[in-house]
Amino acid sequence: MAIADNIQAIQNDIKIVAGQYARNFSEISLIAVSKKQPDERIEEALDVGHRLFGENRVQEAQTRWSERRQKYDDLKLHLIGPLQTNKADAAVQLFDMIETLDRPKLAKALAKEMQKQNRYLPCFIQVNIGKEEQKSGCQPQDLESLLALSYSEGLQIDGLMCIPPVNGAAGVYFSFLKTLADLHGLKKLSMGMSADYKEAIAAGAHYIRVGSGIFGERTL
Ligand SMILES: *Cc1c(COP(=O)(O)O)cnc(C)c1O
Repeated sequence: MAIADNIQAIQNDIKIVAGQYARNFSEISLIAVSKKQPDERIEEALDVGHRLFGENRVQEAQTRWSERRQKYDDLKLHLIGPLQTNKADAAVQLFDMIETLDRPKLAKALAKEMQKQNRYLPCFIQVNIGKEEQKSGCQPQDLESLLALSYSEGLQIDGLMCIPPVNGAAGVYFSFLKTLADLHGLKKLSMGMSADYKEAIAAGAHYIRVGSGIFGERTL
């Protein structure tokens, strides 16, 4: 029951915060981040009708979702973790959206795979919004050229995604991502996790990605 309640509570928050910022709540979607969560918790979310999930590793996602995909034809899976080019084929096969396009080599690999499989997924470009050394994501100053390349490869880029620095004021980074999106004519933003999804909605998020806030601590 806890998981159903958590999903309900977050959906309520979406409505409340959207209202406070004069946004339409129906344009904001909750991605349940199921990485490292045991099966029974996933089933609980599915049982109450939740259908949008995020995973950060291709192989783990295949194990968890390949069979379930057959059972739930309205399921949507977003890849929210770093993607190696040698896993582009599996990622294109399994996911419905790639949120972590962050470099030219990957743009080329994804475009090639999509053509090969005749399966065209929308992508988000992940921006290393805090310009952190260890973090994946393209640097803000490289966004323009990565976008140009992605378009020339035929990719559909729906928006931008970020993971702000852990100890920063997330809202500032969310606003920066929104500015970058506006600057490049991109409509959608994936930002905000368990600790900061309300700030993300306030700053314009269309997808919030919540893991532990729905399922509890990751145990696998
Ligand atoms: C794990 C993860 C999340 C969810 O994190 P929580 O703090 O558990 O909500 C969101 N986004 C990405 C990219 C993640 O890897």
